[in-house]
Amino acid sequence: MARLVMKFGGTSVADIERIRNVARHVKREVDAGHEVAVVVSAMAGTTDRLVAWCEAALKERRIFDAREYDVVVASGEQVTAGLLAIALQDLDVNARSWLGWQLPISTSNTHGSARILDITGDKLIRRFAERQEVAVIAGFQGLHQETGRITTLGRGGSDTSAVAIAAAIRADRCDIYTDVDGVYTTDPRVVPRAQRLDKVAFEEMLELASLGAKVLQVRSVELGMVHNVRIFVRSSFDRPQDIDPHGNPPGTLICDEEEIVEQQVVTGIAFSRDEAQISVRQVRDQPGVAAAIFGPLAEANINVDMIVQNVSADGKTTDLTFTVPAADYQRSLDVIDKARQAIGYTRVDSATDVAKISVIGIGMRSHAGVAAQAFRALADRSINIRAISTSEIKFSLLIDAAFTELAVRTLHSLYGLDKATP
Ligand code: ADP
Ligand code: ASP
Ligand code: MG
Repeated sequence: MARLVMKFGGTSVADIERIRNVARHVKREVDAGHEVAVVVSAMAGTTDRLVAWCEAALKERRIFDAREYDVVVASGEQVTAGLLAIALQDLDVNARSWLGWQLPISTSNTHGSARILDITGDKLIRRFAERQEVAVIAGFQGLHQETGRITTLGRGGSDTSAVAIAAAIRADRCDIYTDVDGVYTTDPRVVPRAQRLDKVAFEEMLELASLGAKVLQVRSVELGMVHNVRIFVRSSFDRPQDIDPHGNPPGTLICDEEEIVEQQVVTGIAFSRDEAQISVRQVRDQPGVAAAIFGPLAEANINVDMIVQNVSADGKTTDLTFTVPAADYQRSLDVIDKARQAIGYTRVDSATDVAKISVIGIGMRSHAGVAAQAFRALADRSINIRAISTSEIKFSLLIDAAFTELAVRTLHSLYGLDKATP
């Protein structure tokens, strides 16, 4: 007997038939003798619609009250938790739904992107033993204890709910069921020749997720790494009756680096179009200028990513280019404008039609020249690189968004990641 968390994303619970299919997957594990906690997302498209309603309800103000946003967007998961419990009971599986405040899943007060602080797993564990009851838990939502208000964990947050619950109940595994059968060398919707990876190290998955591969929310990988939860990404579209309970289903295990025997130099490629580039022109080339620019941005809670400072030709002025999340673009321009006196620049140029392509692999630690190959390959395709950043196991390149797919495909082939054609 094992204790499992099974998480199902939006497409996996998109309609009643799919919810009934999820119930059959859960029954399959219950019948095999396992204790099961299920975490569900809202039906596909629901959260987007709820967010759009919040935006439409505003007329005069630019920013809505995040506490009320959370009340609205958390509702999607309530519906699927209840529906799945009904579908399970319909299959004679003992099941009960749980909302974030009922467990409770305690979080910080940062509405819209709250962090999980604590989950008490004892109640669930007791009910596994006493009633053989499946817990169906609404993902994405939690409770801020002091104010007693509902919070949400940021988009894609049900992955984090699932891993946190797996840690709290000391589950043997956290299965993330989604619309692809694992983590691929890059988004398989963009590169059909992407290959499924059998195992990915936590550190690499952390980079892949934070650099754009939305298959797992970044915080879920962080939690998995800290609490040593074995995360297995697999497809919910396999027919439950075709799955051999003792076999090895297709999927990707996120695990410690030591468990990976065959290490490639490059593991995967991630990309993100949610970036904006800002260039502050002709700032004085003297100490304190970077602080004058990035200090106010940090105070405004804006996450600056790539930074390029040119060497000044005349020894007096230079240009500073950096990227921010597209969602913070306008706010960043406002901040720079306000700090104009302190910074002292002549002009600000900016662009939102940019994309960041990132190449990731633990093997890069011990191999030189990996990035240089990419520069050549992109140059051969006349793709201009606007900014570069590197770290121990990855490098990122900022390019024009129009070339995103071409660049990803080019690098995917360059590093030998393409699946052999059948
Ligand atoms: P869910 O609704 O189940 O949470 P998501 O849409 O959040 O699913 O994540 C799954 C999607 O992530 C896939 O459909 C795929 O397009 C995308 N994706 C991006 N990069 C990758 C990758 N490297 N491997 C697998 N899927 C990826
Ligand atoms: N429903 C939420 C979202 O769409 C959370 C999730 O699906 O993980 O972001
Ligand atoms: Mg997701």
